Amino acid sequence: MTTPADLVCKDLTKDFDKFRAVDRVSFEVPQGSFFSILGPSGCGKTTLLRMIAGFQFPTSGDLLIKGKSMIDVGPSKRPVSMVFQHLALFPMMNIGKNVGFGLRQRGVPAAEIKTRVGRVLERVGLPGIEDRQVDQLSGGQKQRVAIARCMVLEPDVLLLDEPLGALDLKLREHMKIELKSLQAEFNTTFVYITHDQSEALVMSDNIAVMNKGRFDQIGTAKELYYEPANAFVAGFVGDANKFSGKITARDGQTVSLVTDGGVTLHAQAVQAVPEIGARAQIFVRPEAIALSKTAPANSPNASARVVDSVLFNGANSMVLLRDPQSGELLQVTLPQTGAFLGLAKGDTVYASWEPAQARCFAAEAA
Ligand code: ATP
Repeated sequence: MTTPADLVCKDLTKDFDKFRAVDRVSFEVPQGSFFSILGPSGCGKTTLLRMIAGFQFPTSGDLLIKGKSMIDVGPSKRPVSMVFQHLALFPMMNIGKNVGFGLRQRGVPAAEIKTRVGRVLERVGLPGIEDRQVDQLSGGQKQRVAIARCMVLEPDVLLLDEPLGALDLKLREHMKIELKSLQAEFNTTFVYITHDQSEALVMSDNIAVMNKGRFDQIGTAKELYYEPANAFVAGFVGDANKFSGKITARDGQTVSLVTDGGVTLHAQAVQAVPEIGARAQIFVRPEAIALSKTAPANSPNASARVVDSVLFNGANSMVLLRDPQSGELLQVTLPQTGAFLGLAKGDTVYASWEPAQARCFAAEAA
């Protein structure tokens, strides 16, 4: 790695009595990069972020910022700042006072506060709004003010706790792009927690997928999407069809599996190839599946299926296909060629995919 890490966590662990909320988590975040921690509710994201901020004391492990251990450094002394989901702007203060709050706490002279507040508001694209009140701003503007209030303190690391969670869908889509460009503008290390995979995929240089207190995989959005390390990551990142069943044959990394519904499928095993007879899961992305009106030649995963429903959503339209024998549903991206626009419930089409496009993992322990 050429860029030195701004933030390093080594075997960071947090126990609440007998419950382990964060379990030996290790990672490094290079200076100026956007790092997201993605995981379902209750997986330990907030606890991890609070340990980095200093609000929660780790049970064991170490945490370094710019090479210095933070374990014995209190929250106000750490070079980090945090944006909360509900932004926590003070409604009784105008924008200038809100943004200058941390500087006043630090005893910075008034004239310098005025200059720095003016400068940071300009950098977030809101010049001259110091005298406005919080309730006079839109949701997106409040978001930028919350970031300005943190960035004026020039932290080494900015922590963001699901800051888009309270926004409506349209604004959230817009703010994803805006947050990414603000991060590039400040060139500050961002650590962002979310349970929304699309936020993490769009904005991050690297993403850690967290599950039950642990990091299952750290990688770029493309690595997580195309090369998931285990069944949890394959199911959590992006849409996927999932089939459970038993392995019936193995040929190198290619395996055959009979699903619980009795359909034989072929896929590429990731890492260890499950033994014959072992329970396993196969994941296939909806866009990796080809549709055809006649049976495709030499395609091991081809089958005739009946249209259950067409979910029209412009470029993201999907069709749900039912296997006539097993009843298992397959979600397929509707091709944009127009050839399948007329598909209707009850029609029969062929769905097929290459074994290399499907991933097989040993079944997760219960
Ligand atoms: P969410 O996305 O819902 O906020 P999260 O991934 O941020 O979830 P945490 O808030 O870190 O999850 O919680 C992880 C686990 O630790 C949960 O099971 C939670 O109940 C537990 N936990 C968190 N704080 C405490 C506490 N102070 N005492 C006991 N258990 C706690």
